[in-house]
Amino acid sequence: TDTGTLRIITAEDEHLAHNYHPLPVVIARGEGAWVTDVEGKRYLDLLSAYSALNFGHGHPAILAAAQEQLGRLTLTSRAYHNDRLGPFAAALAELCGKDLVLPMNTGAEAVETGIKVARAWAYRIKGVAADAAKIVVANGNFHGRTTTIVGFSDDPVAYEGFGPYAPGFVHVPFGDAAAIEAAIDENTAAVLIEPIQGEAGVIIPPEGYLRAVRELCTARGVLFIADEIQSGLGRVGTTFACDREGVVPDVYLLGKALGGGILPLSAVVADRDVLGVIRPGEHGSTFGGNPLAAAVGLQVVEMLASGEFQTRAAALGEHLAERLDALVGHGVTAVRVAGLWAGVDIDPAVGTGREVAERMLARGVLVKDTHGQTIRLAPPLVVRGTELDWAVEQLRHVLAA
Ligand code: PLP
Repeated sequence: TDTGTLRIITAEDEHLAHNYHPLPVVIARGEGAWVTDVEGKRYLDLLSAYSALNFGHGHPAILAAAQEQLGRLTLTSRAYHNDRLGPFAAALAELCGKDLVLPMNTGAEAVETGIKVARAWAYRIKGVAADAAKIVVANGNFHGRTTTIVGFSDDPVAYEGFGPYAPGFVHVPFGDAAAIEAAIDENTAAVLIEPIQGEAGVIIPPEGYLRAVRELCTARGVLFIADEIQSGLGRVGTTFACDREGVVPDVYLLGKALGGGILPLSAVVADRDVLGVIRPGEHGSTFGGNPLAAAVGLQVVEMLASGEFQTRAAALGEHLAERLDALVGHGVTAVRVAGLWAGVDIDPAVGTGREVAERMLARGVLVKDTHGQTIRLAPPLVVRGTELDWAVEQLRHVLAA
């Protein structure tokens, strides 16, 4: 690590809360799948800001939409209408095959909104007694960092020391539909799951799980809420990870890539009989649905509606899976790939996930460790096959060193 970089990191450490432990690189520019640090060194970005940069850095069409809107109107609050929100909501609803959209900003806000909607639906439509609604969640979940959400995390790093926790959540093992069936009772409002668990290490449930959850929720009168904040919007080779099993949840939670890597934009998307339960004044956000975000979001939805990014992610994902599978037994203990999204478990004999990420950094590839021994790959969907090959070559070298 060179002195310019060190100086910036040291200065940052003076005044920044230490809620992250970043890799020692200071990024100054980005273009497509590549970023450049303050020393002028280039790196292939295989994290994409946890999938928020599905379309890469500075995608020309998204930049143009943002720039055009930036000079026209950026914020109205929902006290008034703006001329960008309606078209965005219509396009997103159509992409999801649903009636209504509730726009927020961050992923955690979409999850919080989904929880409120599910509870309101339980009390007002299903007839659950006041304050008795329950939501079934999965072990190993990651849905964000608010106090309610960390309260139903089972990762001690996420929840320990932040109680008291909100009641009303029931845990089941991820990937086990029978456990969900057993957990549902007359007070159950919803089942809230990630169709593929991202932070947990790209954990793909057994084939048939999502279909079983869908059938169970329909049969028992419970909402199926799919947190597609990290898995959705092209990442796995389909628009949504639920599409892999041909399943449509009652509620989609979307975020990250919806904002085109430019700004925070999240949304809850559902039919009128569900999202229609929220009445004026009961929920909102000063920035939610702002015209700048709506203009960017509309551009993102139009790009996804073409299907081009999904097709790319599917084809490149197969390519990546082949290359990564060849590493199993050579410093890698297991690989899980869904589209352009991979969890790679590092053999402890080679080092920790963090150590591998640091060695990859030195070779010009940005990856991120999760839960100790796993590194996660989520390249921008605009990456080239040859760039993936090069990155896997770097990983092979790191594992052999
Ligand atoms: N849900 C899932 C599945 C996520 O992966 C994340 C972020 O990693 C969130 C929710 C929270 O999103 P945000 O960080 O924008 O609040």
